[in-house]
Amino acid sequence: MESLLVDSHCHLDQLELASCGGSVAAALDAAREAGVGRFLCIALNPANIPAVLQLAREFSAVAATVGVHPLHVSEYRVDASGLREWAQDPQVVAIGETGLDYFYAAASSEIQRASFAMHLRLASELGLPVVVHTRDAREDTLALIREYGSTEHGGVLHCFTEDWEMARCAMDLNYSISISGIVTFANAADLREVVRKLPLDRVLVETDAPYLAPVPHRGEANQPAYVVRVAQAVADIKGLPLEQVIEATTSNYDRIFGLAGGGS
Ligand SMILES: [Zn+2]
Ligand SMILES: [Zn+2]
Repeated sequence: MESLLVDSHCHLDQLELASCGGSVAAALDAAREAGVGRFLCIALNPANIPAVLQLAREFSAVAATVGVHPLHVSEYRVDASGLREWAQDPQVVAIGETGLDYFYAAASSEIQRASFAMHLRLASELGLPVVVHTRDAREDTLALIREYGSTEHGGVLHCFTEDWEMARCAMDLNYSISISGIVTFANAADLREVVRKLPLDRVLVETDAPYLAPVPHRGEANQPAYVVRVAQAVADIKGLPLEQVIEATTSNYDRIFGLAGGGS
């Protein structure tokens, strides 16, 4: 039986629809034809959470997260009770994306840390995994996960671009590592070296669509169908058949997000 890929991180409400068939439904159909069966639609802020939840209600292949992106925490202040209310929605399988981005927004680092801690505490309370965005903030990211995270439910470092040491520390905290189209970029030799070392049972693949389209689509708007390129790159780097990477990343996804045994 042929297994289907999961795009573990995409922003379906942000897709550039003109480049993927004119609707989210068309984008999901194109993905399905390419061998991508399910999608985790990631929230960015309180303004887009209703759209994310609505997409998950509309399409059975789509699941949702709720959270506030670290680059949106200055604009949108959310407390735990507001987030908890959204997180009760049956479509929600994780908290995020949250985390720390000191590369683009060092000035808001204090607000980011408070928000990240709040997301981690809430996820622990609700027994949900966390989808973490981290850039130029290795030590603080790991320290906050250690302090407030749940090693039982863990989570994912999405769009991973850090070093092996960071991956190793995160895996010790029951986090998995999600690889995006960056792995196909010519200048990503360091990331490919990390991917080579990653145990297959800790790897996920994602598009982060509409951002970060993989080669040969680099520079275009990204879409979930292109996650096949990411999985193929991981397979090439590890010297494995594509089918094995598809099976592993899909079963990792189901284990982390609690969907093992559930219908799609
Ligand atoms: Zn992100
Ligand atoms: Zn994202």
